[in-house]
Amino acid sequence: MNTLTYDRLYSNLERLKLTKIAEVLDNYLERANKENLSLIESLDYLIETERINKDETSLIMRTNVAGFPYRKTLEQFDFSFQPSIDIKTINELKTARFIHNQENILLLGPPGVGKTHLAIAIAMEVLKHKFSTYYINCHKLIAQLNKAHYENSLAVKLKTLSKYKLLIIDEIGYLPLDKQGANLFFQLISNRYEKNSTIITSNKSFGDWGEIFSDNVIASAILDRLLHHSTVINIKGESYRLKERKKMFSRGGDKN
Ligand code: ADP
Ligand code: MG
Repeated sequence: MNTLTYDRLYSNLERLKLTKIAEVLDNYLERANKENLSLIESLDYLIETERINKDETSLIMRTNVAGFPYRKTLEQFDFSFQPSIDIKTINELKTARFIHNQENILLLGPPGVGKTHLAIAIAMEVLKHKFSTYYINCHKLIAQLNKAHYENSLAVKLKTLSKYKLLIIDEIGYLPLDKQGANLFFQLISNRYEKNSTIITSNKSFGDWGEIFSDNVIASAILDRLLHHSTVINIKGESYRLKERKKMFSRGGDKN
């Protein structure tokens, strides 16, 4: 190959942003020569390598955008510790079909049983299917919606939050909402209803939602929309944090 062709090839790879091909090409050309690889084999290898690299990069970017407080997978979840969770349900959610069907997931249970872990782990699977995902804690969400409301930018904020294929709203019920907060929350849920999927986690059972939202009518309007197409996972077990602590105690470790 003459220098002109070589230079043009590299310059085109750069312009077309085929960075992985540019990275492996020199070594690959040597190998293709030695092993007498056909043009079709070579093209297939190079393009496949580029595709894998682009998929990996975009997964990393989507995961960063998601803003998880920590990253946990389904493989890291000890299901034997929480027998109340039906593995079949989890395996179904893993396929991300619920996203296609605009269905919601409600994870309920006391603190430490793995609600946030499962929400994040399911979202990590959803990200692999190339869907946009965003995590937010309920308290922070309401603060952001309130701020947008006072800055006259609520419509824009609601539009942004409604466009994610999956939105995780974590920790509903830890702090009660006032009427304004409940109203803003309702608007978000209404905007997402039957358009995109939402995962909710809460330590409160549905009967207590009137109290969380300081209003029974708005609480049941929110629940109505969330539950219409949904999977409810009610985790009835013990706190995993407590189990870890107990393990530490029995080993005679730090007792704080
Ligand atoms: P919750 O949101 O229900 O309060 P988390 O999901 O934050 O609880 O879980 C608390 C901690 O315990 C996290 O570090 C989480 O990864 C871990 N954890 C909870 N349940 C399990 C489990 N069954 N297997 C492995 N780790 C778990
Ligand atoms: Mg949590």
